[in-house]
Amino acid sequence: MKVQVCIIGGGPSGLLLSQLLHLQGIDTIVLEKHSRDYVLSRIRAGVLEHGFAALMREAQCGERMDREGEIHEGFYIAHDDVMDRVDLNKYSGGSSVVVYGQTELTRDLYEARDKMKGNVVHNVADAAPHDLKSDAPYVTYRDGDRLVRIDCDYVIGADGFHGVSRTSIPKDVLREYERLYPFGWLGVLSRTKPVSPELIYSKHERGFALCSLRSQTLSRYYIQVPLTDKLEDWPDDAFWAELKRRLPQDVAAKLVTGPSIEKSIAPLRSFVAEPMRYGRLFLAGDAAHIVPPTGARGLNSAASDIYYLYHAMVDHYKKGDDSGLEAYSQKALARVWKAQRFSWWMTTLLHRFPNNTPYDDKLQETELQYLFSSEKALGSLAENYVGLPF
Ligand SMILES: Cc1cc2nc3c(=O)[nH]c(=O)nc-3n(C[C@H](O)[C@H](O)[C@H](O)COP(=O)(O)OP(=O)(O)OC[C@H]3O[C@@H](n4cnc5c(N)ncnc54)[C@H](O)[C@@H]3O)c2cc1C
Repeated sequence: MKVQVCIIGGGPSGLLLSQLLHLQGIDTIVLEKHSRDYVLSRIRAGVLEHGFAALMREAQCGERMDREGEIHEGFYIAHDDVMDRVDLNKYSGGSSVVVYGQTELTRDLYEARDKMKGNVVHNVADAAPHDLKSDAPYVTYRDGDRLVRIDCDYVIGADGFHGVSRTSIPKDVLREYERLYPFGWLGVLSRTKPVSPELIYSKHERGFALCSLRSQTLSRYYIQVPLTDKLEDWPDDAFWAELKRRLPQDVAAKLVTGPSIEKSIAPLRSFVAEPMRYGRLFLAGDAAHIVPPTGARGLNSAASDIYYLYHAMVDHYKKGDDSGLEAYSQKALARVWKAQRFSWWMTTLLHRFPNNTPYDDKLQETELQYLFSSEKALGSLAENYVGLPF
């Protein structure tokens, strides 16, 4: 089989690119390792930059997002039993974010692919890109006993952090930058009314907490936990009790608790792989970079890669102009590193670091005091949170 663009990975990055290219008459195939049900069972991101929302609309996938997603024009930072609001709208010059779950967004992308009869193959085993430095790359995978070969012009590695694409780049070409944080986030999803219509990021001496939501009936809460903690250590009652301790008293008093419908622990990690292009292979999304979830940049950084790749591919196929493809890695990485910086800053501002000295703690407190005493500092936070321009 021959296609123009072979995409490894059927997460949001791969599906969105495939949908956008198909609408421009560019032929794609998406190869996904897992079943659709499995992909749709993963509970992940929930805060979308306005630029990402615009890209979903351009992909003709924005209808439900616009109907059911919530526009948020601000969020709170809780500390020392007070709540300070960050007015995104005011400090970003009129912008906002959309709260809409990654699961729902991925469902919309799958449905759009189905509607256009897009080629999405699930349960592919042993996907492997070949001859990436030649003009005729191809990808193989196993379908039962059968080895399938897809010839293509370009391979997109959109197969997440644990995928095969990044590891296909020779070690002497790839540079990896990484920071591991000495804690993780324990997350709980519950069918309860959110404690606040807007997100609350809470800095507390017992550790960070986040009150997030997917809708007005579905809440997502997180608490910072040591990396050694296991899910068995956190029955629902223990989770709710600890979350309440880390919130201002009046917020804790309002918290509606209920059975968890999903519970997981995610380690916090910052990671970037450079370059994001090797011959005819282009990496996108978590395959090339990940951030701690503080600041909600992960999925949004994936979206900016897709924006650059989409335009570069259209210029290549429609105008014979390869400048976008040539500049892709450099352009994408420039924005990726800004998202890394912002995520690192938010994480450092709000978490309890076990090895901090009293001096470090004082600096952290001062950073927060400075933030809420300076409109310029709030402006910087707001412009990063709503999303820097593509
Ligand atoms: C707990 C948690 C909370 C998060 N919260 C936020 C948030 O609030 N805001 C935010 O912006 N981001 C958040 N993120 C990050 C966000 O979920 C990711 O950045 C996003 O999923 C990246 O999309 P992707 O398509 O690049 O990668 P993925 O979603 O990882 O998709 C990659 C796909 O490739 C498939 N695959 C893997 N290997 C292979 C292979 N060998 N062959 C074929 N297919 C393969 C996988 O099954 C998967 O479906 C969060 C992440 C986690 C884990």
